Amino acid sequence: MKDVKFRIYNTLSGKVEEFVPLKEGEVKLYTCGPTVYDYAHIGNFRSYVAEDLLKRFLKFLGYRVLHVMNITDVDDKTIKGAQREGVSLQEFTRKYEKAFFEDIDTLRLDRADYYPRATETIPDMIKIIQGLLDKGYAYIKDGSVYFRISAFPEYGKLSKIKPEELKAGVRIDADEYTKEDVRDFALWKAKKPGEPSWPSPFGEGRPGWHIECSTMSMKYLGETLDIHAGGVDNIFPHHENEIAQSEAYTGKQFVRYWFHVQHLIVEGEKMSKSKGNFYTLRDLLAMGFSPRAIRYLLLTTHYRKTLNFTFEALYQATASLKRITDFLFELETRKFPEGESQQAKERIEKCRREFTLALADDLNISGAMAAIFELIRWGNKAMEEGELFSQDAANLKALLYDLDRVLAVLPEKVVEELPEDIMRMIKEREEARKRKDYATADRIRDELFKRGIILEDTKEGTRWKLIKK
Ligand code: AMP
Ligand code: ZN
Repeated sequence: MKDVKFRIYNTLSGKVEEFVPLKEGEVKLYTCGPTVYDYAHIGNFRSYVAEDLLKRFLKFLGYRVLHVMNITDVDDKTIKGAQREGVSLQEFTRKYEKAFFEDIDTLRLDRADYYPRATETIPDMIKIIQGLLDKGYAYIKDGSVYFRISAFPEYGKLSKIKPEELKAGVRIDADEYTKEDVRDFALWKAKKPGEPSWPSPFGEGRPGWHIECSTMSMKYLGETLDIHAGGVDNIFPHHENEIAQSEAYTGKQFVRYWFHVQHLIVEGEKMSKSKGNFYTLRDLLAMGFSPRAIRYLLLTTHYRKTLNFTFEALYQATASLKRITDFLFELETRKFPEGESQQAKERIEKCRREFTLALADDLNISGAMAAIFELIRWGNKAMEEGELFSQDAANLKALLYDLDRVLAVLPEKVVEELPEDIMRMIKEREEARKRKDYATADRIRDELFKRGIILEDTKEGTRWKLIKK
């Protein structure tokens, strides 16, 4: 649907705008990645899944998306973690980085084209810091380099925070370093005893967090990105500082559309380890929830609304997803009369159009899901009334899998292959039924039930389902 206009909320303008990339047909997307000091929690994944929806929908609309996500593998938290465990920074961070990649595959997040590590981009950061010093946007104090906010009059344009008001005491950077002005933030932090450090023209030290993202995004995507995404907590100071550094350095607009995802809370409260309501993806998997249901839950609250995670909602997500897979199961296993109906054709087109237009309206996921459930309701009824034909079933299945390029919640196969001995038992039972030997048929049915298979006798023959958690 090339003619669809995609409208998206831009934090910079504070409005829903039509999305027009800089280069036709191509989107340069940067999403703030994890700080690899622990397993990522479901709040993090709320943001990543919303960003994944954005990316998959852009691809669905036919855009080529070039996507970069950083890995922050040096900062206060990673350094402290490595010290606590008595291992090198690299050994410490690689463990969580590996877990992160496992988790994003579990949740079917479409992989980025690049995942640069901060520690491997330091020469590029130094180059930008040097450039900012040369242009008078930065200064050195006690071996650290700071960005001079007073030199960038547009500071605050993203978060709408007025720099003058910051003077009243809000510290942009909670570090302990001395600087000209409390509002200024560190681009480079002088080495502290016992901390990892890298050589630079300004002395041994390590980069500040904000410069990492500016550098890694511009390195792979160029000086102007189409979309930069992250959770709302990133708006200030992180993204505000990224704009200041990048635009001061290049003299060009850094990002055209800023996409921010509201936070996830748990049972109405902020998630925190001390409250005992803190969950990683792994915690939920260990409780037996399926990755697809977790993804479904994270996906189906609009990205600009707070997502209240509850177990009740996770059970509901599991049930909603089952409604879709049950429908697919019917489509795969029933025998339909040959042919195709005009009504099914129209319903399928209507669903595709409504799904697409809903998402094109600032990613209105509820509208998109409503279009799918409306189709399923109609399809189930048509099936019961014998008004669905073989080609309709094939078209409905094809539609659902096509829309799943965006949602990524369907199983690869709804009808699984059964081992040969089980297939043989099902056949034996059918034969027993034919000769009216119901005792044998029931015995086989019970035996199969114990092995996790439910049988259903229909006009067209016996169908089976796996009992799933
Ligand atoms: P971090 O590893 O803390 O830098 O966070 C990685 C991403 O997760 C960032 O985009 C954050 O904004 C986002 N994030 C952190 N906490 C939450 C939360 N509770 N809900 C949604 N997103 C979050
Ligand atoms: Zn970032």
